[in-house]
Amino acid sequence: MPELPEVEVTRRSFAEQIAGAQISSVFLGKPLRWPLGVQPDALLGRTVQAVRRRGKYLLIDLDQGMLMVHLGMSGSLRFAPALPPLGPHDHFELATSRGLLRLHDPRRFGAVLAVTGQDDPVAAKLLGALGTEPLEEGFQFDAFFRALRHSSQPIKPLLLGGKVVVGVGNIYACEVLFLSGIRPTTPASRIGPARARRLYQAIRDVLQRAVERGGSTLRDFSAADGNAGHFQLEANVYGREGLPCKVCGKPVKLLRQGQRSSYFCAHCQKP
Ligand SMILES: [Zn+2]
Repeated sequence: MPELPEVEVTRRSFAEQIAGAQISSVFLGKPLRWPLGVQPDALLGRTVQAVRRRGKYLLIDLDQGMLMVHLGMSGSLRFAPALPPLGPHDHFELATSRGLLRLHDPRRFGAVLAVTGQDDPVAAKLLGALGTEPLEEGFQFDAFFRALRHSSQPIKPLLLGGKVVVGVGNIYACEVLFLSGIRPTTPASRIGPARARRLYQAIRDVLQRAVERGGSTLRDFSAADGNAGHFQLEANVYGREGLPCKVCGKPVKLLRQGQRSSYFCAHCQKP
């Protein structure tokens, strides 16, 4: 599943090239998670001004209105002057004066939404519940620690929920909890300032490193220029059940929290 780093890498791979491009045609394939929301012809002639990101949404600002793109479980975007003919899993394409922007999404949990702007009720509903961006100035330790203190949830689902900080998906949540010595089941309110500080720093470091290295290599992910992300996440615990912990050598454990797999070292990570 594309996580925040992959979405950010995708954004960087085409944001500059597409800025200023005028839309000349719109292709809609099979239905995605949500309908586009306007007739495709309504987008013709509009100009792309910028590509931003909020959480895992790419926000494509047009001279009039905005497109919101979500990659869902298996989506990837490519932008290039020319692309091979559309395949069975290509479900959205913008032809522009600077090239083609194509959404490839075999599982079709992704979506492209045309909205009037960030204040559009649909956009406000999807973006309004999102927590702080972890890689921006607004992510401050004091507010993060306060949010942990006031939560009644275990820390792992709290991180995955995205209301405190966005972008900490399952792989990253397992890793940052390992790096900060906190067990996934620990109540967030029981985490003291020292461990909270380590967790805060780990979230920043791990996500930043993933963006710098091109996102973790995930099966369905490729950046918009067609290059697979080349950062093979050097996971300490994720996907390593039964293998020796890289720090203490004891076997990594797996437990289910909700629907998600939590990998952890019972020796290095304290309740
Ligand atoms: Zn260990």
